[in-house]
Amino acid sequence: MQLKRIRTIRNVPRTGLATILIMSSLMGFGFQGHQIVATIASHRLSARAQAEVVRLLDGNPTESMVAASTWADEIRSDSSYDYARTFHYVNLPPDASDYQAERDCPDQACVVGAIRRYEKVLADSSASLAEQQEALKFLIHFVGDLHQPLHAGLAADRGGNDITVIFNGETSNLHRLWDYLLIETRQLSVEDYTSELESKIKRWDAAQWSKGQPETWAVESFQLARNYAYPLPENGNISPDYAKKGLIILDLQMEKAGVRLAWILNQIYRQ
Ligand SMILES: [Zn+2]
Repeated sequence: MQLKRIRTIRNVPRTGLATILIMSSLMGFGFQGHQIVATIASHRLSARAQAEVVRLLDGNPTESMVAASTWADEIRSDSSYDYARTFHYVNLPPDASDYQAERDCPDQACVVGAIRRYEKVLADSSASLAEQQEALKFLIHFVGDLHQPLHAGLAADRGGNDITVIFNGETSNLHRLWDYLLIETRQLSVEDYTSELESKIKRWDAAQWSKGQPETWAVESFQLARNYAYPLPENGNISPDYAKKGLIILDLQMEKAGVRLAWILNQIYRQ
């Protein structure tokens, strides 16, 4: 169980911990980020959507959605899923003011196209059980990815992966800072982090967020990346002010992603 893994991380022997940290650095929007988004969404499902999640993933909706939320990263080393490698992100031109499918997502091979594709599979009653299961696991993951601003970044630096930063004395890269490092500074369990975020989601906000499309959410992420994530000091040193603003953005993005994931599933599985 992912939740337990996070919670008991202090008890893991050193070599085990190192393995987890190395694994983490290879993955998309951090483990915790995905788990928090999945937990928020699981609490907002309609009765029918919840029943469908139980049917497809087996077991308690929150636990099974949390476990499913990182599956798309776990299968990255499996070559039979090579086709999905680019599904975790979308790149926009530096001066983009909108998303254009032909320009930004040829062959639907980006995170926006992937969300569209798997929404369709879930809505298609002729899809096999295995196809639906896989579609749900992918969808849970990709809606999270789309809300990490640097998953809608620039191709030139691979969404910040090629930009070196120094954070709390550690050399890392900008993408990883936004995937993991900022969230980790909270030192909260997934449950506590989720409760904190849920207490801040106002009914009006949730209604506002429950509209639009993955295309518009991609532009939202891209603008956050351009306005907040990319502007760095020359030396790449992350200031306390940058980290504070970054976390405010990430918290809000995780709240939105959770609300929107539930909204998508509730729409697919209308009562
Ligand atoms: Zn990912």
